[in-house]
Amino acid sequence: MGPEIQQLIRLLGKLPGLGPRSGRRVALHLLKNKQNLLLPLSKALATAAAVMRECTTCGNIDTQDPCVICQDTRRDSSILCVVEDVTDLWALERSASYRGYYHILGGTLSALEGKGPDDLRIGSLVQRAASPEVSEVILALNATVDGQTTAYYVMDRLALTQVKISALAHGVPMGGELDYLDDGTLTTALNARRSLATESSFATKDTTI
Ligand SMILES: [Zn+2]
Repeated sequence: MGPEIQQLIRLLGKLPGLGPRSGRRVALHLLKNKQNLLLPLSKALATAAAVMRECTTCGNIDTQDPCVICQDTRRDSSILCVVEDVTDLWALERSASYRGYYHILGGTLSALEGKGPDDLRIGSLVQRAASPEVSEVILALNATVDGQTTAYYVMDRLALTQVKISALAHGVPMGGELDYLDDGTLTTALNARRSLATESSFATKDTTI
């Protein structure tokens, strides 16, 4: 097999959920269906690469900056929903139960992956939350250990802004990722979000002592 096909297999194998074996299978499937799959897909990939933009306000991926959501003036500008990744934003948008704006952290704090606070969009979140327009920040992070560690860190950083901080409650199972929840569970979790004010004031006290 030529180096071009080897490269195709190598890249496909890097896609989420795939590995070298699936990479080979997908590559072969594409090569066998040149007209109706390989060519349209390569065109779609090139187009997406040319038009994609990262929103400098919220971190969303779209074809324009600011993204469509940040430009939507019908949304409630008093609420910011903090999520780990774009897939979580998509999940919340699918549930159609949230009409505020978003802030995408770009992952979680992770000692294992060497991700620290500077690797996440936390500074710009604090700036946005400090705006008088914003009265509540919802921490919609995954119910994983890293997600919750990050939530507490973000809460601590937001303490000085005096903004009300809440988090998703019932419905999100431990170890659960938002993207895998059905819309009903996600809606319940969002509606039953709890205030983190008590813990937040503890955090403030800790830092002032
Ligand atoms: Zn945006």
